[in-house]
Amino acid sequence: MGSFTDAVAVVTGGGSGIGQTTAVEFADRGASVVVADVDVEGGAETVEQIRDDGGDAEFVETDVTDVDATAAMVDVAVDTYGRLDYAFNNAGIGGPSAAVSDHDPDEWQQVVDVNLVGVFNCMKHEIDQMKAQDSGGVVVNNSSILGHVGFTNSSGYVASKHGLLGLTKTAALENGETGVRVNAVCPGFIETPLLEEAGLTTDPDAREKIEKLHPMNRLGTPQEVADAVCWLCDDEASFVTGEALGVDGGYLAR
Ligand code: NAP
Repeated sequence: MGSFTDAVAVVTGGGSGIGQTTAVEFADRGASVVVADVDVEGGAETVEQIRDDGGDAEFVETDVTDVDATAAMVDVAVDTYGRLDYAFNNAGIGGPSAAVSDHDPDEWQQVVDVNLVGVFNCMKHEIDQMKAQDSGGVVVNNSSILGHVGFTNSSGYVASKHGLLGLTKTAALENGETGVRVNAVCPGFIETPLLEEAGLTTDPDAREKIEKLHPMNRLGTPQEVADAVCWLCDDEASFVTGEALGVDGGYLAR
């Protein structure tokens, strides 16, 4: 396991699920962490957990759909800790379950605004800061298995996660020589509040059906995604950029 001592990380959606676990993992490895979220209570909980464990963290209320708010988020990292080494752009929403022909356009747009435009808003300022540093940095975007394949009644989510992979690859190409690496993780179904709210983990029949979609016949854990994100940030992945790393129990191997 690589050490992130003296490094600074930003995690969006850091107040819950995958983001919360990854923020704690960054801190466990020695990084100072800026936890960004619209969920003030969840964000405060993450910061408290990190500080209780002896780590260093700050919360900044951030709606990633607001490009000024994502600029302020990066400013908090630089003003508080002097730099930004790692950014995990993870904030996302599932959106309503509806077929394309039935979908409310405003609700569809909202999913794309958070999951795709929100990541652009973050990357814009994160990469700008990383390029200005001698040591560069690493961006990891949270896409999904649904960045590669379709899923019924989830067109806004699927479209945003596909778009996120294009955004990741393009930023990786643009930064091949700047010292900034840009990658994505593509988790399978992970046991978090997002799945619980969609009723996918609480209803035993729905859960079994979802588990069976993965050759490993189970859901993933937030920790398994956090470990993959930290590997992508580590120097062990120093020649990895533009990659969409599956963390999916074999889902995409079918
Ligand atoms: P989660 O537990 O719901 O956490 C997402 C966090 O993002 C929440 O704290 C949420 O706040 C916050 N958020 C929502 N909109 C935001 C905005 N506009 N600005 C800033 N923060 C915002 O979900 P999760 O399952 O950990 O998902 C995290 C990421 O992983 C998402 O991008 C998701 O698409 C991706 N992912 C999840 C799975 C899975 O199976 N769980 C699989 C593949 C990919 P509120 O709760 O207040 O909305």
